[in-house]
Amino acid sequence: MIWDELETRLTQLAAEGLVRRRRTLDSPCGPEAVIDGRRLIAFCSNDYLGLANHPALIAAVQEAAARWGVGSGASHVVSGHLHPHEELEQRLAAFVGRERALYFTTGYMANLAVAPTLVERHDAIFADRLNHASLIDAAQLARAEHIRYPHGDLATLADYLKSNRARRKLILTDAVFSMDGDLAPLPELLELAERFDAWLVVDDAHGFGVLGPGGRGSLAYFDLPPSPRLILMGTLGKAAGVSGAFVAGDHRVLEWLMQRARPYIFTTASSPVIAAALLTSLELIAAGDDRRAHLQALIARLRNGLAGLPWRLIPSLTAIQPLIIGENQAAVALAEQLLIRGLWVPAIRPPTVPTGTARLRISLSAAHSEMQIDALIAALRECATLRPSPAKGEGAPVNRC
Ligand SMILES: *Cc1c(COP(=O)(O)O)cnc(C)c1O
Repeated sequence: MIWDELETRLTQLAAEGLVRRRRTLDSPCGPEAVIDGRRLIAFCSNDYLGLANHPALIAAVQEAAARWGVGSGASHVVSGHLHPHEELEQRLAAFVGRERALYFTTGYMANLAVAPTLVERHDAIFADRLNHASLIDAAQLARAEHIRYPHGDLATLADYLKSNRARRKLILTDAVFSMDGDLAPLPELLELAERFDAWLVVDDAHGFGVLGPGGRGSLAYFDLPPSPRLILMGTLGKAAGVSGAFVAGDHRVLEWLMQRARPYIFTTASSPVIAAALLTSLELIAAGDDRRAHLQALIARLRNGLAGLPWRLIPSLTAIQPLIIGENQAAVALAEQLLIRGLWVPAIRPPTVPTGTARLRISLSAAHSEMQIDALIAALRECATLRPSPAKGEGAPVNRC
């Protein structure tokens, strides 16, 4: 039967330690999660500012539901564009200092919208090798030549741009790399885009709300000028604590997107209550310097606390603090050891990250307390001492850390 092969492949996934398992939460998104009756400290979410369960957002949703109902009923371009959506787009554009913004239902869809609307067959997309899956899929959907350059390697990118004869060129990058937490060299990328008359599309899923003055994101962090060729995508399900995404930039680019982007046109507009929650979230982000300062203090505390462990902590000034373990099974085993100690940190394996770089992706939130960070540090230090050391040979304690 046609499905027999799936069993073989599923078994293979299990053998490679690549099976994904979902856990059902009996608690809202926050620094603690209740699973199977156990309360865990969670370092898994992208709720970097701790807004996902904020009372002001809950109140905004309740009020908006009473005023606007729940469903939007149609696509934005038919009859689903309600006043809260319009206001959100205007406020987002003003917040990031661009002429216009469009709101999308998810970041995945926003990414699928941008590149394929700007380039097509016979054009070329130049993409960082560590880009998020949604950007890879966007390049596929565009059907342009998909040229991937080594992570952050500007010289190689410049060579590729120079030797390529495509009429339209587009550089595609994460601003903050989602599994590494490091920043793309955005000023240099913009320079290359200028030099080779290319578009530069920046996915700021992890910088928006966290980096730059007022949390306006990675472009603001680097103080980049609002060039028409520079297109910003930001997601609203991470630091903004709700869901959805936006694309912001030059009014001509945004008008073209609204006219032609299939993931904008052929989908029902998300609920107006989501837009209302996001309006409140934007206010909290703008006024969120205390949250961001607390988050930065937690990041420094974690990095200090984990210095000298056998695992490498990737240099990162963002809320994403990955600890490289290496083998898939070792990463999973370490995550299990932490779970036993009441700490929930996801093990990230290929194909999400390159083979041999399985890791714990520790993500911090302004909602965490110093005590919670200290608990994680203590547990990881304990696991490190239990780790079988090759030098000690047979005498080493048997432990799956
Ligand atoms: C999470 C993420 C997305 C997708 O955004 P969603 O709103 O979750 O669909 C896109 N790009 C990057 C870099 C992300 O981390």
